[in-house]
Amino acid sequence: MSDLLKAARELLRQLDLHQVAPEPAVDAAAIALAEEVRVMEVNQPEGWPIVCIDFDGVLHSYTSGWRGIDTVADPPVEGAIEWLVDLIEHEKIMPVIYSSRSKHEVGIQAMTSWLHHHLVEYFIAGGGTRHDGAPWATRAIANGLKFPTQKPPAHITIDDRGFHFEGRFPSIEEIFNFKPWYKR
Ligand SMILES: [Mg+2]
Repeated sequence: MSDLLKAARELLRQLDLHQVAPEPAVDAAAIALAEEVRVMEVNQPEGWPIVCIDFDGVLHSYTSGWRGIDTVADPPVEGAIEWLVDLIEHEKIMPVIYSSRSKHEVGIQAMTSWLHHHLVEYFIAGGGTRHDGAPWATRAIANGLKFPTQKPPAHITIDDRGFHFEGRFPSIEEIFNFKPWYKR
């Protein structure tokens, strides 16, 4: 791996951890390169099937509706955190969270801090007993999950507002009448 690529990956790691702000000396080109590495790594995570997971209405119960890109007001959907931990732990699955929030850094931050909070709660409540709680949650969010800013090439997509296309197109009536599972 080239030194430049190594440097880009390190910058990406720091940006993802939100622990270190980019140095003023780090110019826009380096950040752009780091973003390219992010897209590359999401697209080719060692050949593992990508499970693309929507956020609102799938992980986040979304009972209060949309409150802004940086606001995640509600608890998880029942079973969501346990399921996500299973995916993160699986050796050959790449879980990826991609939402309309993903296009802005504040949206990704809102999702990651909400997830961290609920992963830790899950551990405190006795779930995921194989893990060391908050440190595992931090590592899982930094390394075990991807938060791409562009739609990834997924093996499967899990979305509350999808139509499962199997060769038949939805009618206009079906489009108008569609309701996500939590509004039925
Ligand atoms: Mg949704």
